[in-house]
Amino acid sequence: MVHYHICWSDSKLDWQAFDTPEDARIEAEKLVLSGESYTIDSFANDCPRCKATLQLGDNPRINREYDIFEQLRDGCPIWRKHAMGLVNTREKLKEIGSTTPNQCFAMYVPTKEIVARVNVKDVEDDD
Ligand SMILES: [Zn+2]
Repeated sequence: MVHYHICWSDSKLDWQAFDTPEDARIEAEKLVLSGESYTIDSFANDCPRCKATLQLGDNPRINREYDIFEQLRDGCPIWRKHAMGLVNTREKLKEIGSTTPNQCFAMYVPTKEIVARVNVKDVEDDD
């Protein structure tokens, strides 16, 4: 059946299927970070996103644990915090991002999936 997913501009993350685009948009508005954008896309039966979710073997809507890292200027990410659940993780990420100019990101470590970023800068020229 037709369903909808939020497609984030900067992440392949998708953890939830919605019955209507309105539901998807409401959830997206709760989760969206500044500077981030998304689209709501419709999918039918053969949905790669749902398949990927099934392969993870758990229900991504329940509280997964994420780790938040800060990317230092020399390129080394340092671990900052654990967070449970995507909404909570994004809130913590916003908090941490507001205390540093460095890029911070949240990762679901088992799949190395980056689920959100803040303080993303344009790619700097390396000369
Ligand atoms: Zn799907």
